[in-house]
Amino acid sequence: MKKFFPAYISHIIQLLNKYQEFAASKNPEHIVVIPIIKERIKKLQRRFFQIQSRDDLTAPDQFKRNIRSFQTLLMEVEELECFGLPILTHYQKDFDGYLTYVLNQLCDEIGCPVEKPHVCAISTGTSGQGRDYYWYHRYFDTIFVPAAEKFSILNLPDLLHELGHHILKTYRQSFFEPFSGWFSNYNEMLEKTLLLRDIRDSDRIVKSQKIFSEFWPSYWSEELVCDLIAVYCVGLAYAWTNLKICQSYHPDYESINIYYYAYHPPDSYRMDAILAMLKHLGIDCLDVENTWFEYAEIYRHNKQALYDNYFPVDLIEKAVPHIFQICDEIGLVICHDNIKKNDTIIYKLNNAWSLIRRDPKDFQKLMEKPLI
Ligand SMILES: [Zn+2]
Repeated sequence: MKKFFPAYISHIIQLLNKYQEFAASKNPEHIVVIPIIKERIKKLQRRFFQIQSRDDLTAPDQFKRNIRSFQTLLMEVEELECFGLPILTHYQKDFDGYLTYVLNQLCDEIGCPVEKPHVCAISTGTSGQGRDYYWYHRYFDTIFVPAAEKFSILNLPDLLHELGHHILKTYRQSFFEPFSGWFSNYNEMLEKTLLLRDIRDSDRIVKSQKIFSEFWPSYWSEELVCDLIAVYCVGLAYAWTNLKICQSYHPDYESINIYYYAYHPPDSYRMDAILAMLKHLGIDCLDVENTWFEYAEIYRHNKQALYDNYFPVDLIEKAVPHIFQICDEIGLVICHDNIKKNDTIIYKLNNAWSLIRRDPKDFQKLMEKPLI
């Protein structure tokens, strides 16, 4: 191993050279994130060189430490190979290029205050059955979507949720400023409830301790904020898309498996937040709300213990006006302004949802034409 180790590092550096050449051969006008990918490769190379040039590279007392730093870096190479390079190899003008063009237009319509991201149509899932569906890769500023997503006009409002993750990279502080204070209050209340109910189950207590110290701050708050940003920008269409996705796959709508599926709050809570933002925007959402309740009735018995403590209604009531205000402050265009104009994508996404419910035949005709 000690002989092989330096050679292995050289091999990885050589591989990264190849990746760099490959990235340089692609057209940055098509794939705007090429400079980000190239910069990432350059940084990785620098860090491998640093390990390689250590005098104590294979010294017995440092060998373990050096191997560990090398392995940590290899994980980043894997990230590059799994996501960064596929953005380059996969690019097709008619799919990735088209969806990036759609996203660019959306960014212009909503006054996106940050650099526009790229779209790579490579995800495998369309309904989220444990697969990847829409998601945002923060290192490569890329939104991954399913392969044939350009045909799925009813899913496209989800692009606004992913754009929310991208915007949060820059505006995290403003959006999350009051959250930590709220979480410590909810945590106190949760602890009191555990005491009052005399809950001694250690597993339940350990889980509960993680709710406001880990799950809410690390994952759920970002998802909640992105849902609210999406509603602010696209309006009712986002609620219908969310309902469609929930109906497609999620049977445990009011519960969450904290061990296996902890990245999003439960569907019921997300929908409550979405509906609250629609009402705050003054949008009539009775139809989507009733449709949601019909669906929710089927699963209501699944409500998990302490649900109301883990997912406080009060948080939605506080978050909605706060997120509204920050969206306004950073210059995001409210959905009403785009829905008024019938040539905007925001209008077309809402129109598509209205047509499929009102007149499915007209919706089929709409599907024959490209969105833009
Ligand atoms: Zn998300």
